[in-house]
Amino acid sequence: MKLKDDYKDSPTYIKNFGYDLLAEAEATAEKATSPDCPFCGTQGVIVLGNLYGKNYAGVQCPCCGVHTTPVFTGFNLSRKALTITDAINASVKAWSRRP
Ligand SMILES: [Zn+2]
Repeated sequence: MKLKDDYKDSPTYIKNFGYDLLAEAEATAEKATSPDCPFCGTQGVIVLGNLYGKNYAGVQCPCCGVHTTPVFTGFNLSRKALTITDAINASVKAWSRRP
């Protein structure tokens, strides 16, 4: 899969994630595979973002915009620390599941 944008060119993303995490996200995205969008058949892309100071990842369809719920990095409710790789993998898993 691909990242939605060239995040390494964005000062905002460099500030929020840092080069190392952006490189990790790119490598994780490259290894990930997922089914196409169930609505329009386009391949999903990995979205990164930051909300209230916390980084997150998700999967979005670049064509129709449908997306998964953001998965935040850091400590989750079961106090397990999620890395950006964990967040991307969890997003891809959610995208690949049809509830
Ligand atoms: Zn779509």
